[in-house]
Parts: sequence; structure tokens; C-alpha cells
Amino acid sequence: MIVNDNVLARVYKKASKGEILSVDDILYMYEQADLMDLGKIAGKISRDLWGNRVSFVSNMILNYTNVCSIQCYFCAFYRRPGEDDAYLMSADDILREVELYHKNYGIRQLLIQGGVNPELDIDYFTDVFSRIRRHFPDLGIHGLSTSEIFYIWKKTGGTLEDVLSRLRESGLDTIPGAGAEILDEEVRKKIGRPPGSGEQWLMIMETAHRMGIRTSATMMYGHLESNENKAMHLIKILDLQMKYGGFLSFTPWNFEPGNTRLEREGLVEGRASSQDVLRNIAISRIVFNRHLPVIQTSWLTNGVEMGQLAILFGASDWGGTIYNEKVIPATGKKVGDLRKEIIIKAIGQLGMVPVERDNLYRTVKIYNTEQRNYLDGIAFS
Ligand code: SF4
Repeated sequence: MIVNDNVLARVYKKASKGEILSVDDILYMYEQADLMDLGKIAGKISRDLWGNRVSFVSNMILNYTNVCSIQCYFCAFYRRPGEDDAYLMSADDILREVELYHKNYGIRQLLIQGGVNPELDIDYFTDVFSRIRRHFPDLGIHGLSTSEIFYIWKKTGGTLEDVLSRLRESGLDTIPGAGAEILDEEVRKKIGRPPGSGEQWLMIMETAHRMGIRTSATMMYGHLESNENKAMHLIKILDLQMKYGGFLSFTPWNFEPGNTRLEREGLVEGRASSQDVLRNIAISRIVFNRHLPVIQTSWLTNGVEMGQLAILFGASDWGGTIYNEKVIPATGKKVGDLRKEIIIKAIGQLGMVPVERDNLYRTVKIYNTEQRNYLDGIAFS
């Protein structure tokens, strides 16, 4: 590996020793470092940690309601109560849909997320989770953004610990990182997040980690944030990770502006470039290094080929299969279904070994891609 950049070499040395990078180190990587050099370093760190293995999860995303009282300016998915295409799934509807995908595709993780629907209370969630747990004991429930959890907590009263305990007892396993966006309060105001919601994200994550509930972390970039905002975001997440080690993975994902208020008002003109996507993956890998060793591709909005490039630029986890996802299509972008055979094939094309995992990143199955043609007989949708 040849990298002709003394500053980057020093940053790499610091990261390799497990030292925490400074804001200036991260800003250098955003503003001055050559993208290919970042990719070489990030790819090496990833291979040192994971060898040639790339993990993925057989996953279903269940968006149980699109009614939301928050109405973020970057979201195309929400509907106001009473709008024609507003919906809320009953527990019976949810069970039926999960059964379909569990039976046909052997899903191991259910990512369940929706809007902040003022009709719902904690009993809806505990009923749904406990019924899923009873009917599908091998399915990990990876559920609820911090916006939904905060709403459930305020509606229920009592302590956040009590609310998280009730959700956990009913079947909630792990919490996704949604709601982090960019943690800076000024940026959050401009993108329509409620005041204090960045601190709430950190507080809910910290409380969950203290209780032994594992979660994911995310960053949404490519809207109104600065490089410094991104650097501070990474540092805040790393700070929390150093306390409890509760984050299982980090996913940087690029904002999709289609059909959002930010686009309508001309505040964001287009989506992040492919170079930005790869730069954010590589920087995340270098910053988090062994402290948060799973970096996930954001292939959902960028496609399979970008997912493959992200692996070469430092990601070690593909994320999950997708069946019937509703949030991204609301932006006007076509996603379709991504079945596990397609992920296995994509990872195999890189000469790497696909490892199916569960929501706690435990190995379910290792695939030998040389001996099978996984796309035989697969229908693309
Ligand atoms: S991002 Fe979540 S909280 Fe914000 S409007 Fe969309 S559904 Fe509601």
C-alpha cells in the first residue's frame, strides 16, 4: 500500500494505535486527503479487522405507519393524520406480512420503524412485539427510532428505563440508529428536527447501552451540514462508544432529496456524489477503527455496485435484504427488492466471503460463492 501523504500517514498511525482522532484530523480527511489514499487506508483497516469476510443480514423492513406528527423537512415518507394515503397497520396485518417473508425468505431480522403516530400508545408496540416473538422466535426485532421511543416515553410517563424495559420484555432486541441525522442542534433546526432531539438521541442510546440493549448508529449527510458538523458527529458517537461499547455498527447514509420540503424550498439541490459516499465510508472506518468495528454500506439509496465499492473503501457489512421498503420509494427513487442471493453474488464478485448474520452480528451461515451460481432462477423485481 503506497500513500504519499505525510499527514494521512500520521492520522493512520494514530488510528492504528487506537488513539482518538481530533476534529482537525477528520477535517483534513474531508477537505484535503486524496480519496484513493483514504480508500487504501480504510480498506486495510477493514481487512485487518475482518479478513475477507463481509457480513449481511436476511432482513425485512416493516414500516407499520406513515402518520407522523414531527414532519421533518428531509422526509418524504410521512403523512398527516387523515390524508388519503395515510395508513396504520394492525397487529394482525403485521403478523400476516411478517409470516409471508419469514416463510418464503427465512428472514432473521425485522427492522420495524414508522412515523410518530399520535394514535398509538405503548400497548400497541408491546402487543405487536410479543406476538412476533411468540410466532417467530428466531426473528430478531430491530425496532423504533429514537423519535418513536421518545414519543412512547412521553405518552407513557415514568422513566425512560421503565419504558425501554417494557419494550424489551415484550420482544424488542436491538434499536436502529435512525434519528441521529447530524447531531448539531443548528443543523437539526434547519432540517426540521424538534429542539433538543440530538441530545435526546444520545441520551436514549446511552440509557439503552447502560441497560445492555445494543443499538446501531447512523449519520445522514449531503444536506445542510458542514464538514465540521460531520466531524463532531463522529466524535460524539465515538465518545459514547468508548463508555459502554453499545453500538453494534455505524452507517453513514446520503440524504435523498426527492419530494422533501428541503428540495421543494430549493435548500438542497441534489444528492451527494459517489465520491462523497465513498469518502464518508472511508473516514468512518478510519475514525471508528477497532472501537466500532462494523461499518455498513448505504447501498439502499446507491445501488449494488456502489455497495461493492463501499466494501473496498472500508465497509465490512452489507446491511440487509430489502422486501417492500416504503421510505425511500416515497422520494421517487426506485429500490425494488434485494434478495439475499443478490447480496451473496455481489460480495462473491469481490472475491470476498459472504457471512450471513443475525441482528446481534452473530454468524448464521458462511457461504462458499465459488461453488454456486446464486443468481440461477432468481427473479429480479
Ligand atoms: S423522519 Fe421519521 S420522525 Fe421525521 S417526519 Fe419522517 S417519519 Fe416522522
